[in-house]
Amino acid sequence: MSADKGLSPRVTIVTAFPEFFGDFLSTSILGRAVKNGLVQVELVNLRDFGRGGYRQIDDYAFGSGGMVLAAPQLQDALSEARRRGGGKRPFVVYPSPQGALLTQEIVETLAQQEHVIILCGHYEGMDERFVEREVDLEISIGDCVLTGGEIPAMTVVDAMSRLVPGVVGRGEAVAEDSFYRGMLDHPHYTRPASWEGMEVPPVLLSGDEAGVLAWRRAQAVERTLARRPDLLARAAIGDYLSGGAYLAVSVGKEQVSLAALSALCRVYGLGRPFLMAGDPERRHALSDEAELLETASPGKELCPPRIVGGWARVLEWIQRHEPDRPLLIVEVLSRPEEGALHGLEVKRRCLEWKGPVMFHLSGPEQRKQPGEGGEVLLTSLVREPEDLPLEVRAAIALDRFLGKR
Ligand code: SAM
Repeated sequence: MSADKGLSPRVTIVTAFPEFFGDFLSTSILGRAVKNGLVQVELVNLRDFGRGGYRQIDDYAFGSGGMVLAAPQLQDALSEARRRGGGKRPFVVYPSPQGALLTQEIVETLAQQEHVIILCGHYEGMDERFVEREVDLEISIGDCVLTGGEIPAMTVVDAMSRLVPGVVGRGEAVAEDSFYRGMLDHPHYTRPASWEGMEVPPVLLSGDEAGVLAWRRAQAVERTLARRPDLLARAAIGDYLSGGAYLAVSVGKEQVSLAALSALCRVYGLGRPFLMAGDPERRHALSDEAELLETASPGKELCPPRIVGGWARVLEWIQRHEPDRPLLIVEVLSRPEEGALHGLEVKRRCLEWKGPVMFHLSGPEQRKQPGEGGEVLLTSLVREPEDLPLEVRAAIALDRFLGKR
């Protein structure tokens, strides 16, 4: 069962302290979701599988140290948890400070599983042999050590539940949250509009929907750059640019697939790409090809390239359609130590730029040419081979900057 398909995810939590979960599963948003059957959470009490009169679930660590949850009892509890899944394929998670740091991507992956089993550790943790054999993923909720896995288990269930349609009131609210598109959320305000001399940003009271949207996007960018610039590496920045995004490709004699360039621009929401050819004969041939592409699939939403002689025509077109001049991002062969910038830094500049951005790619010959000045030089996206087809380079570039994670 997957949250994506609008079905309720099933989670079974194995814990020696089920009483932790009483209020958690019956209060507020999650309480409602459980009550309405949007989320199914069950508990398996590890103590039910304890040994002897004291229902022992742990033992001293070999070689000294504290107590460790024992493998046989854990195995019995896990079998019961699997049985509760009713034959659905379980994905077994062990919250542990040594696990992968929990991210929205991991939460989304868990929400796709048919049945998630969460094994709560305690004391020194679990017998490693059991972990090695049975656990699919260890997850940490931060670089700190807690007394048990119950709070991390709640964290995982809570985050997964928010992705189930209907759990959080307004559908879009989730998509606008931090991390969903890879960026932080914008700040929020409510009444009173004026509080102790502090005013709400006027645009939020203006009724100008487009203005509010632009302000929110700009705030999300500002916050992410100031607080979590590391997030940029995996963020799709297309929705956060101040202007449009364009692709320009310079060709010499090398082959280039116009159909592939068109498809790319469609996929990444760009307008028609610019194909620059200095040689008039080549330009003529490319124009014929572009025309053919357009007539071959009439009515289709194609983005056949605009064939032009050079930058002057490209900039002229941009000037007619955008209020601001574009930031030119030119992929070059130079390395960072020679003045070119890493993709991450270029991403940051795109977000800070007040206007459109233009990605420029070219074949090996043109790439050796020095820049025209004023542009941002992006270090080569792929080291080898130098003559990788242009449309492949373009796909890599657009996906790095605009691709949804
Ligand atoms: N000896 C372990 C270590 O240093 O890696 C710590 C064990 S901790 C005291 C007990 C249990 O709490 C763990 O088995 C785990 O289930 C849970 N736990 C503690 N810190 C956690 C964290 N940051 N993320 C996820 N689970 C955690």
